[in-house]
Formats: sequence, C-alpha cells, structure tokens
Amino acid sequence: MSFRHLPSVDALIREVRAGQPDAPHELLRDAAQAVLAQARKAIAAGSPPPSLPALVAAVHAELAASVAPSLRPLINATGVVIQTNLGRAPLSAAARAAMQAVGAGYSNLEYDLVEGERGSRHVHLEQLLVRLTGAEAALVVNNNAAAVYLALIALAAGREVIVSRGQAVEIGGGFRIPDVLRASGATLVEVGTTNRTYVRDYAAAISERTALILRVHASNFRLIGFMHEPELAELAEVAHQHGLPLLDDLGSGTLIDTRQFGLQAEPTVQASVAAGADLVTFSGDKLLGGPQAGIIVGRRDLVGQLRRHPLARALRVDKSTIAGLAATLHSYLRGAALREIPVWQLISTPVTALQQRAEAMAATLVAASLPARAIACESAIGGGSLPGATQPSFGVALTPASSNATALAARLRAGDPPVVARIVDEQVVCDLRSVFPAEDATLAAALIAAYR
Ligand SMILES: *Cc1c(COP(=O)(O)O)cnc(C)c1O
Repeated sequence: MSFRHLPSVDALIREVRAGQPDAPHELLRDAAQAVLAQARKAIAAGSPPPSLPALVAAVHAELAASVAPSLRPLINATGVVIQTNLGRAPLSAAARAAMQAVGAGYSNLEYDLVEGERGSRHVHLEQLLVRLTGAEAALVVNNNAAAVYLALIALAAGREVIVSRGQAVEIGGGFRIPDVLRASGATLVEVGTTNRTYVRDYAAAISERTALILRVHASNFRLIGFMHEPELAELAEVAHQHGLPLLDDLGSGTLIDTRQFGLQAEPTVQASVAAGADLVTFSGDKLLGGPQAGIIVGRRDLVGQLRRHPLARALRVDKSTIAGLAATLHSYLRGAALREIPVWQLISTPVTALQQRAEAMAATLVAASLPARAIACESAIGGGSLPGATQPSFGVALTPASSNATALAARLRAGDPPVVARIVDEQVVCDLRSVFPAEDATLAAALIAAYR
C-alpha cells in the first residue's frame, strides 16, 4: 500500500487553489477529500498511486460536477409530447422572449401606467382568456391543482360537493379528488356507480347542504363498454335548476380541436363554457402549451369570490409566468398556435415528415456501423390528455449486439445532453414525435456515442 505517496488534503488544496481563486475553502476541501478517498480506494484495489497533476485534474472535475445544475435540458425521445416527468410543454420562442424581457428588469406587473398608481397583476391575462374562451372572467394561479383547491375552498368549505363515483379519481402525482375535497373542508358526496352515473343521481343528492356539482375530466384512464356519464349541459341544467354552480375540472383542456390530427376529441375550454359550466379549470402547461399555471375561467361573481379569498394570494403566479402565458395566448389569438406553440408543432407534424427524418437518421447511424433502422410506431400524447389515444409516428430502433437494451438506454441517459428513449422488445426506440427537427443531429451523435 502506498497511501503515503498521496498528498495531504491541505497540500492538494494549495495545488488546486491557483486555478480556483474564488472557490470557497469548504468547496475545495470537500472536492479534495472526495478525490483522495477515491485514490485510496483505487490504491487498495491494486492501482498505482496517481500523479499529482492527475489528482489536481480530478479535483477540478469534482468541483465542476459539484456546482453543475441538477436541472438540465434533455432530448425527449419517448414520443410522449406532454410528459410531466420531462417538464411538460416546451415553451414557444415568443413565450421565452417575453419571460426573458420581463425577468431581466422591472415591469408594470402591478402598476397602472395610465394612472401612475398601483394596479393588478390579473389584468395582464384576464382579457386574453375571456376573448379566447367566451367566459365572463378569468383568474390564473400556480397550477391546476391549486385552481381546483382554491375553487373548492372558496365555494364549498363546510358544505357538500357532488361528484360522480366514476370521477372520484387520482389524477397522478398524489392529486386525488377525494383528498383535495377533504383538504378544502368540503364533504364529498359520491353519486352513481363506478361505470354508470345519470343526471337523476345528481338531482337526488342535492340538498340545502350542497355547495356545487363538480365534474372531473378522466385524464389518465378511460371507461369503455357499459358506461354512462351525463353530458356537461345536462349537469349544468340540473345545477342551475337548484341555484348551484357547476365546476368543470378539465385537467388538460384545449383551445384547439384535437380531432383535426386524427386524435379523439379532448374537451375544449370554449365548449365547457358554452355548455354552461360556471367555472372551468385547466393547466397552463398541458395542451395549452405554456408555462406551469392553473387557469380558472367562468362567471364573474364566482371568479371574484376566488380572487378575494386569502388563499389566492398564496397561490398567485409570478411575473415570468404571466409574461410567458400571455405570449402563448397571443399565439392563439393571432391564429398562429399550430405554427408557434411547440406542443402543437409536434402534434401536427405529418407522419410522412417523421418517416423522412427517421430514415435519414437511420442512414447516418448505419453509416457509423450501428444496428439501426427506421420503424413505424405509435406515440401517446400524455399529460392527462387524450387517455388511451395514440398517434402514428416514426422512430429509430437500435438493437444492441449484446441485446442489452437496458444498458444502452442507461448510457443514453448518462450522456450530454441526456436522451430518454423507449425500450420495446429488447430494442432502444427513439420516437421522433417528441423530438424537434433541430435536435436530430444531436440525437444521432448521442446514439453513436452511447453505442460505442
Ligand atoms: C393534470 C390535472 C390536474 C392537475 O393539474 P396541474 O396543472 O398538474 O396541477 C388536475 N385535474 C385534472 C383532471 C388533471 O388532468
């Protein structure tokens, strides 16, 4: 054993210090200790002691790694366009520019430029949302979970909320409708059965304790076969006959009809408003394609009640969210959403375009001696929208010689940028539905690097 050939921690820090004049002592010490511990382990396992320059280089590398950001961009080759674990909607160029511009300095976030006095942060989004959805009023909070929670606390605390048994569901990430109701101080009254609920079930459950009727969009599962749920308009009618509001939690919601892309229909926000929902809640970063936010549109008096509730202050959005969401909504207003909003760019890409890119990428990989080929596949939309629906897509499949697809996928995740792919039948599949054309060359290079 030759541990005595290793420098002391202090001696190693002195060597490194010249190249790291500003680094705090504790940071250098932790890195030097980690490198020396590694070296002792290697020596104990029979390696020769590393040279001083090698140790210094290792400390610099350790320092760089210790201050590297944990949150990093990556290439989403899963084919799932809205993936909560991968950050949901990528932002449009306009949204990014607006967030940058507002974030870089001061703004009229809560300042009325005409009157020269205090204003409201809500004005920047409300008129846009009113025009796009046909609702009377709008309010934006941190995310849709917060939107539902605020609506229930403000309108139903201490009273009853009627929900179909088939909708008392878990959305994911621990968001369970029965739990949210309990946390808001409301009592859940489940009606109907898991698979069949009728308007008369709702009507029979209404009493003087009822605060509202809640409909929850089944975001991540599908009831098929012998099932029935009332139309939203029927629910609105029974709610209004009893002077109750109808709250519609759309989850994703969309302003664009998804059927034009060969997908099944995801309910549009405009349709919910038109069908008589008194409040509609949906996410900013699902099919809307903007930053994380929870959007509430509906009746002016109810939105006002929510806005005045003390919790609204705790759930308010910051200036960069308002800027990014406003820019995203402007794309819809100008009729440019399909062209400008990344989620819609990806969903609306014709499969023939994906096939061409997959074939070109496969040819590049084959030329580099990789066992690659272009394959047809199906991608899910994800993000609690269009459950069970898939879209035809194209990707590149790699069959590792050792048939160890799991190991290849792990090397892809360890790369820079990381690539998250799918494993299908012992192959690593990169589905191009969720890959931007500008990423193709980087993806091909990452595949080549990971394969070697
Ligand atoms: C996604 C979803 C939520 C939660 O929305 P977040 O924006 O993730 O907070 C709530 N309800 C439904 C139906 C959803 O699909």
